[in-house]
Amino acid sequence: MSIVRWILVAATTALGVTLVGSWFLARNEPLEYTAEGKARRLWHRLAREAPAHDVFVIAIDTLRADALGVYGGDPSNSPALDRFAAECTVFEEAVPAACWTLPSFSSIFTGLYPPAHAVEDDESKADDRLITLAEILSGLGYRTGAFTAGGYLAESFGLDQGFDEFKVGKKTRLLDESIAPAKEWLSSIDRSERVFAFVHGFDPHRPYRPATLPSPPAGYAAPALDAGDAMAERVTAGGTLDEFPLGDVKVAYHTVDLGRTRDFDEIYRTWMRAKAPSSEQFHQLWKQSPRFSDELAWLRALYDAELRAADAAVEDFLAFLRRSGRYDDAIVIFLSDHGEQFMEHSTIGHTRTSRAESRVPLLVRLPGGKRADQPARCAEVVRGIDVMPTVLDVLGLPAPAIAQGRSLLPLLQGVDLPDLPACTFGTKYPEDGVTFRNWRFIERTVKEEGDLFGDRLYDIGADPNEARDVTAEHADVDARMRAFLSTTRAESEAIGAQFGAAVDGSNDDEDALTQLGYVGDAEAKKSKKSKKAKRPDNSTGER
Ligand SMILES: [Zn+2]
Repeated sequence: MSIVRWILVAATTALGVTLVGSWFLARNEPLEYTAEGKARRLWHRLAREAPAHDVFVIAIDTLRADALGVYGGDPSNSPALDRFAAECTVFEEAVPAACWTLPSFSSIFTGLYPPAHAVEDDESKADDRLITLAEILSGLGYRTGAFTAGGYLAESFGLDQGFDEFKVGKKTRLLDESIAPAKEWLSSIDRSERVFAFVHGFDPHRPYRPATLPSPPAGYAAPALDAGDAMAERVTAGGTLDEFPLGDVKVAYHTVDLGRTRDFDEIYRTWMRAKAPSSEQFHQLWKQSPRFSDELAWLRALYDAELRAADAAVEDFLAFLRRSGRYDDAIVIFLSDHGEQFMEHSTIGHTRTSRAESRVPLLVRLPGGKRADQPARCAEVVRGIDVMPTVLDVLGLPAPAIAQGRSLLPLLQGVDLPDLPACTFGTKYPEDGVTFRNWRFIERTVKEEGDLFGDRLYDIGADPNEARDVTAEHADVDARMRAFLSTTRAESEAIGAQFGAAVDGSNDDEDALTQLGYVGDAEAKKSKKSKKAKRPDNSTGER
């Protein structure tokens, strides 16, 4: 497509969507959200001509935005992504719909919040009646391929809907393992065919075991990663964790591959519960360890090193796309599903809705590359649920009427949109959150004895790390944020009443869930836990 034609298409997109939407509504034909009435047929009718752009979504799981140079992190972590960002709009405050993988990606691909798509715990899978981005594009004639690192992105959780090709890399779970088959698949497709490819890796997710070890903090004798393995094996064989300093155990827990030492997770959690009544109080104990600062810095350095490897994999994939001739005219999106907390609110991992866990990178490159009127950065709060409507809008298509997200195309064209709150649902974890302008509100939905935190409000403009609760000074804001959250929750639950599907038997990538530290979740699934019940964080701070 020529640049002139692209500009014309872009300029008329908003009008086009409105007209198509009006035409659609005028037909007074409800969208069928039943298995028989998959909306792909409707989109096929809506599309007057086949969309002209390939779509690529690249995801590094568990990536907090501020780890990237372009978001203020160490530039050596992300040289390739920082270069790519120069061709994109960098969304500075992108908020995922959930703080863990399954509901967050379900939101990215359906435009719905978790209570609306009803994929909220380990027993849930994406209902076949949901309309996914891949289904719409597949219905429009796209070849669709997903290349994931498994776990909650295995077929059994339902996000394979609409993908002709769905491959799960099971050896390393890293992005480069997903990229290899993606390249092979793309190479097999004629250049004249449109493609949608999703590539995903778990690189910075625990266990933090980078192939290239970073330098430890000065004066800190960092333990070798296999020291953690040795500890886990010894304890699993009948030893006790009390033989080791608390900090060593903590470091080991985050670096051990639980897939190799399956019982270690349970032993660790039992030991934690004996030390302190809650996960948060346990982490306060760790804070008192003599080497706490170095241990925390070491874990963060390992996490960053995993990002550096993933960044190189992104570079490799983008270079492939350029060589293949598919890059220039494609929509290319880089994102993550949630971040990772490093003790900002007293835990490590992603079981809460702190900003560390609820602010992710979102880089959007439009077909043809950066246009003159496209802003380099956008400070507006945007959401994971906006990704699907944005892609469809760039292709000149409306989002499903049911979608809760909205297109960010106007922002990409330098046009302001009204501010909207962005909710992050804990689902099985005990916090929900909402971000609006410079405010973040966190609601503790499950209260446990020993919790250090309850509901709280932060002014992230003045306090980006959320150190000072300002509820008392801003009762009006607090009330409004609560209202945003409860209204969104209620609206979402009303939509979600029509959806809900259970994982059929055992999931087909349970090894990954073990390896990634989701052992307890897998157990919860087996125990037939009630679908909607939230459970308290059972002390690992790691799910
Ligand atoms: Zn994830």
